[in-house]
Amino acid sequence: MANESSATKTSGKIRKIVIDRDACIGARSCVIAASNTFEMDDENLALVKSDASNFDSDDTIMQGAEACPVLCIHLYGEDGKKIFPN
Ligand code: SF4
Repeated sequence: MANESSATKTSGKIRKIVIDRDACIGARSCVIAASNTFEMDDENLALVKSDASNFDSDDTIMQGAEACPVLCIHLYGEDGKKIFPN
């Protein structure tokens, strides 16, 4: 993942969100599902927003990751282990 966007959370079951921007195809599904966590940049690739205090709930973030057609949003838990995709 040379080109990635990531953020960490200090609470909840999801503690780290990483978007593999090399794999992103700009489908925008993540932003539609979880607009407080994901946004598109001017290259039409997804970014994780910078304000973690305003992120969506973990369930909504998970829905955003699940909605990605190429599964390029990776979620990690408190122990650093990958939660999604398996
Ligand atoms: S859903 Fe996936 S492919 Fe589409 S913009 Fe989001 S990260 Fe990129």
